[in-house]
Amino acid sequence: MNDSAAHSHLNGLRQALDELRLLNLPGAAAPLLKQARQHLEALHMPAQPADQAERLAALYRVSRTLGVSLDVDEVLTQVMDAVIELTGAERGFLMLIDPANGELSLRAARNIERETLEHKDMEISRTVVRTAIEQGHGLVASNAQTDPRFAEHQSVIMYALRSILCTPLRSRGKVSGVIYVDNRLQAGQFETDDLELLDAFATQAAIAIENANIYTQADRSLAERITELETLAQVDIQLNQNLEYERVVEITRQWALVGAAANEAWVALLDPRGETLQIAAGPGVGQQISLEADLIAPAWRSGVVQVSAPGAAPARLVAPVLNAGKPLGVIVAERPQAFSAVAAQFLERLAYRAAFAITNAQLFQAVQLANQAKSKFVSVVVHELRIPMTSIKGYTDLLRQGAVGPVNEAQKGFLEVIRNNVNRMAALVSDLSDIARIETGRLKLDLAHIALSTQVDEALRSLSPEILNKKQSLELQIPADLPMVYADPQRVVQVLTNLLSNAHKYTPEGGKLSLRASLLSAPIVPQPVVRIEISDSGIGISAEDQARLFTQFFRSEDPNVREQQGWGLGLSVARSLVELMGGKIGVQSTPGSGSTFWITLPVEAGE
Ligand code: ADP
Repeated sequence: MNDSAAHSHLNGLRQALDELRLLNLPGAAAPLLKQARQHLEALHMPAQPADQAERLAALYRVSRTLGVSLDVDEVLTQVMDAVIELTGAERGFLMLIDPANGELSLRAARNIERETLEHKDMEISRTVVRTAIEQGHGLVASNAQTDPRFAEHQSVIMYALRSILCTPLRSRGKVSGVIYVDNRLQAGQFETDDLELLDAFATQAAIAIENANIYTQADRSLAERITELETLAQVDIQLNQNLEYERVVEITRQWALVGAAANEAWVALLDPRGETLQIAAGPGVGQQISLEADLIAPAWRSGVVQVSAPGAAPARLVAPVLNAGKPLGVIVAERPQAFSAVAAQFLERLAYRAAFAITNAQLFQAVQLANQAKSKFVSVVVHELRIPMTSIKGYTDLLRQGAVGPVNEAQKGFLEVIRNNVNRMAALVSDLSDIARIETGRLKLDLAHIALSTQVDEALRSLSPEILNKKQSLELQIPADLPMVYADPQRVVQVLTNLLSNAHKYTPEGGKLSLRASLLSAPIVPQPVVRIEISDSGIGISAEDQARLFTQFFRSEDPNVREQQGWGLGLSVARSLVELMGGKIGVQSTPGSGSTFWITLPVEAGE
C-alpha cells in the first residue's frame, strides 16, 4: 500500500472513531474510544515528496494573485479564496485586529464554493483563535472533538468542529489578525505541513493586506483633503462675492453648520473698540457673550478649542476669527456628539477665510457710512447756501437795473462781476445738490417720450451766443425720422448742455463742434437706442486723463483746461443721469485733435 492510500485509510478510521464517540456508547467504551483516537493521532504520516511539490506550486500560484489589487476588501477576499484553495478547507475566516481599540473583527468569510458567508455562520472556536494570537504562531487540530486542548470547549462541542487550522497574520513584527479555516464534517483534514503552507502564505497575505490598508488610508485622506479644498474654494467664492456685512456673517455661519456637521452655529464679533462680543449670526442675534467665557480667550490665544462635556451638555467647538493676530470674534459650532479633528480643522480654516471677508465688509460698511455722512453734510450745506445766494442774486439784479437809484458804469461793472460769481456758485451748488440726491437715491426722474431736437434747441439757446463769440462752427445732424427717446426732458437738456459747453470750452477759437444723432437697433444693441455724439476739434484728452474722466472733481492738469472755469463735477453728474435713464456714456479722444463724447438713450420704456 502506498503512502497516499495509507493516509486515506487512516482518515477513514479517524472519522469512524469520531462517529462512534458521538453515539454515546455505554460504560467503558468512551474512554477506550478516546484512547484509540489518541493512538491514531500519534501516527504521523510524512508528506509525500510529490505532494510537497504540488503544494509549493499551489502556494506560488495563489501568491501571485496578491499585490495586484490595492482595494482592501478585494485583497481580503482574494486571500480567503487562496487559503481555501491551498488547504481544501470547507470554510475560511479572516479577522483583523483594529489598531484603535485592539478588538478583533471579522473582515472576510468564504466557503469552498467561493461564496461569502454571513456573520451568523461564524461558528468558530474562539479558543483556537485566541490561542493562535496569544502564542503568536499557528496551530492545527486534526480533530478538535478529541483534541485535549480544545475538546472540552463549548464552541467545539456546539458547532461540532473537527479539522481546524489557524494562523496569525503578522505585519511589522506585530500580530495584525488571524486566518482560521476548518472542516466541520471531516476530521483529519489538516496536518502540520498544511499549517506550514498556511503560515508561508499568511506572511505574504499580511504584507498585501498592510499595503492595501496603507494605500486605502492615503487614498481616503487625499480624497478628504480634496473635498475640503473644494469646499473651501466654494466658501472663498461666496465670501468674496459679498461685501455686505450681514451676508458675510450669515454665509460664514451656514458653512460652519455644513462643514463641521454641526446642529447649531454662531458667529460672534467684537465691537470696534474690542470691548463687547455680540452674536452677529445665529440664534440670539444681538446678544452679548461674556469675553471671559471658558473657551473664547483660549481660542484667541491658541487656536480652535473643543469642549465635549460628558452627559447631557452638547459638544462645543470654538474657532478664533483673527485679523493679523488681533481678535475679531469667534465661530462657535455645537452638536450632541464630540466633533472630529477634521471638523475642528475645517472650522479653523473657515475662520481664517471669514476674517478677511469680515474685515473687508467692515471697511466697506465704514466707507458707506462715511459716504452717507458726506452726502448728508452736502445736502445741508447746499440747502443753506441756496437761500442767501438767491437773495444776493436778486438784490444785485435790482441794483444793476437802477431800481434803487442811478448806477454809474464802474458800479455796473462791479455788479456784473458779483452776478457772474454768484452764477458760478449757483452752478456748483446745483451740481452738489444733484450729487447728494443721486448718492442718497433721492433723485426723481420725470420720464416721458420726448423728441430729441427740442432738447438740443433748449441746450443751444444758452450756449449759442458763447459759441458764436468764440467763432466756433456748429454742425447739427438730427435725422427727421429719428424716433423719440424715453427720458427726463430737463435732465437730457442738462447733460447735452454740459457736453456741448465742454466741447466749446476746451476747443480754441475758430474750432469745429458738431452734434450728430442716430438710431441704433438690433443686432448692434439688444434694445433700440438713440446715440448722440458731440465732437470737437479741441485740445483732446490724454489716455491717462480718460481713465479718470467721469469721477467727481476731476479736472485735467492741462493749462488749457485750468484757464477755463469749472469744478470738475459736470461729467460725473452727466454719467449718473444718463445711467439712471437707462443709457450709457463714453468718450473717444486724440490729444491735440479733438474729442467725441457720446451718450445713448433708450427709445422704449424699460420694465
Ligand atoms: P469741468 O468742465 O467743470 O472741469 P467736467 O466734469 O465737465 O468739469 O469735465 C471734467 C474734465 O474733463 C475737464 O476739466 C477736462 O479736463 C476734461 N474734459 C471734458 N470735456 C472735454 C473736452 N471736450 N475736451 C477736452 N477735455 C475735456
